[in-house]
Parts: sequence; structure tokens; C-alpha cells
Amino acid sequence: MSANSSLFGTYNRIPLRFERGEGVWLVAEDGQRYLDFAAGIAVNSLGHSHPHLVEALKGQADKLWHLSNLYEMPGQERLGERLTAATFADRAFFTNSGAEALECAIKTARRYHYVNGRPERFSIITMEGAFHGRTLATIAAGGQEKYLEGFGPKAPGFDQVPFDDMDAIKAAVNDETAAILVEPLQGEGGIRELSLQLLRDLRALCDEHGLLLLLDEVQCGVGRTGKLFAHEWAGITPDIMAVAKGIGGGFPFGVCLATDEAASGMTASTHGTTYGGNPLAMAVGNAVLDIVLEDGFLEHVRDVALVFKQGLAAIADKYPDVIEEIRGSGLMLGVKCKGPNMELLVAMRDQNLLGVPAGDNVVRLLPPLTTTAEEARDGLSRLEAAAASVSVKAA
Ligand SMILES: *Cc1c(COP(=O)(O)O)cnc(C)c1O
Repeated sequence: MSANSSLFGTYNRIPLRFERGEGVWLVAEDGQRYLDFAAGIAVNSLGHSHPHLVEALKGQADKLWHLSNLYEMPGQERLGERLTAATFADRAFFTNSGAEALECAIKTARRYHYVNGRPERFSIITMEGAFHGRTLATIAAGGQEKYLEGFGPKAPGFDQVPFDDMDAIKAAVNDETAAILVEPLQGEGGIRELSLQLLRDLRALCDEHGLLLLLDEVQCGVGRTGKLFAHEWAGITPDIMAVAKGIGGGFPFGVCLATDEAASGMTASTHGTTYGGNPLAMAVGNAVLDIVLEDGFLEHVRDVALVFKQGLAAIADKYPDVIEEIRGSGLMLGVKCKGPNMELLVAMRDQNLLGVPAGDNVVRLLPPLTTTAEEARDGLSRLEAAAASVSVKAA
């Protein structure tokens, strides 16, 4: 009987058991060390066991673990102030996860139109290939059949359009449209980047029709692309944004950020959460920001990203039978495979290098933002060895 027999069968787990993590390394029970370019799917933004995060969590654990949102929360106030100072936003709502940050974003957008006398505006335009989470509303927003099948009627209020197609978006706007929701850089969908022009056009379209622009930066935010948030590359700002994964550095939490105006409907008792913004999460979130907002940190991400981009291009040139294309931005990179992506992932694992599969036959590389140039080169040579072994098999 499988060791996992007492668990739901929802995961196809890889037979590896890790005992601890040190920076970009994961150490298995048998002592083998793996270079972790999966980073918990962009969650371990500062690698494993970062001393500053460990200290923040331990320090808070000695004082106070949980407090209901019935009381004032200094940690939330501090992190909220820092996040709003660093972004377009005026307001923050803390959640436990990315999907809950999206749920809050969706509710905030609908409620905005409701309090502004347009309750018929409840529908949200989303993009093909999107991933917004696994709750009933967010699987409807993502629109992927594989996640919707068998879970009853799809939640109403989501209209999906083809990827990166401005004409389709314009055609989809109607009297019920409340907002447009996109990931500036799709993760799960296969590291597919929206053009910066499309993001600018979306901003203009929303302004023209009184719609809200919602961004899902759960995966691409918090320094991942070399800016604090990916939309900054387009020089636009959203009205509402969902953030999670990297902001917690491994402690589970998310946040919905919004302008004062967009959040105007979210008044007392309209929304809430038991654990969201809990003192442990806020201690870690503030510690993550200490590092990410440090002078030179994002520059480091961009420098290491360049090492990856050049190295990956060289490997793709050398093994065109294995790699079709390199995609992505910053340290959110995709290797589009010729053969099955799982084949390359298994070959990488044989080289003690971890990546993540994504849609469109892509292998995602999401190294910790703290990865050094030397660690990047180590990973690239392991990837090259993996590509070589797949190439030999293909020949
Ligand atoms: C992971 C992810 C989510 C969902 O986050 P959870 O914490 O798993 O609920 C939503 N959107 C994007 C873009 C993600 O990558």
C-alpha cells in the first residue's frame, strides 16, 4: 500500500522526500542534494531557511501566534503601509492564499459597481490559459475544462477570451462587464507573457468604459520579473491586484491590494477571514519585504536573469531537437520542449535539478530570487546535461 493511502488522491507525487532546505538547495532524506529551481512554485522567493525569515518567524512565535481580526493588527498595518507605499494601491486585505486574494479581488470589483449604482456589472473578462486558483469562483475565472469538470455548474460571471487578443477583449465588453482580470505573465499557462502594449491598451479600455483592471500577480509579483511587480514594465497601474506566493517566502499568505476608489465597497462586515493577516504571517511578510526592498535586490534579480537568459539561449541553440523556445522574464522562465516536457523534467531530476511543469509543454524555472550567478551557472550546466541525455534518446 502506498505511504500516501490516507490522503486524497489529488496529487501525482514525485517519489522524493526532502528533509531540509538551505538556500537554493533541498536535501533529501538519503542525503542527496537538489538544486531547487522549482522553489515551491515561486513561493520560496528567498530560498529555503533564509536566516532573516527564520529569525522573524521564531521571534513572533515566542510572542503571539494568532489573534482574531476583531482586534487591531500592528503587523498588518505595517505591511499594508509598506505595500501601499511601494505600489499603486491605497488599501490591503490579507488572505491565506492566492485563490483567496483573487476571491477578494473579484468581490471587491463587483461590490465597487454595486455601491456605484451599477449592480448589473458583475461579469469579469479573463484570458485563455489563465490560472487563478482552485476555489469555485477562481476555477470559473481560469476557465480551464480540466479544473471545472465534475464540479457542478461553472460559477457565473466570467467571460473568457483568447490570449493576448485586444479585438476579442473589446468585443467581449458588454453592459454586465465589471472588470478585466489577467496575469501579466501567465505561469501555469506556460510562461506566456502578455505584450506590454496589450496591458497599456487594457488600462485605456478600462478607463474608457469605467471597468476595473484586475491583475493576478500571485506568481509573477514580488520581484520575480526583476521589478517589484510585473505590470511596472508596462508603465501602467491596475485598480486591484492579487499577490501571494513569493510575498510569504514559504509562509502561507496572500494579499489583495486596491486603490481607495476600487475598495470603496468593501466596508465593515462585507468580507472577512479568520486567519488572514495572522501575526506569524505578517512577521514573515515584513521580513520578506525587508530583503526585497533593499537597495540593489531587484538589480541582482535582473543580473542573474541575464545569466539565465544567455545560458538558456545557448542550450536551446545546441539542442534544437529538445528545446523549441525559451520564454519568460526575470527569474520566471520557461523552456518549451519539443518532446514531452515531463521527459526533460525527469532528465533534470537525474541531474539533481528541480523544475516545474506548465501548460503548453513547458518546463518552468522559478529559481529563488537570491540565486547567485554561480548557482545559476551550476543549474544551467545540469540543464544542459539533461538536454543532452534527452537528445541522445531522441537520436
Ligand atoms: C498559484 C496561483 C494562484 C493560486 O494561489 P493558491 O495560493 O494556490 O491559492 C492564483 N494565480 C496564480 C497566477 C498562481 O500562480
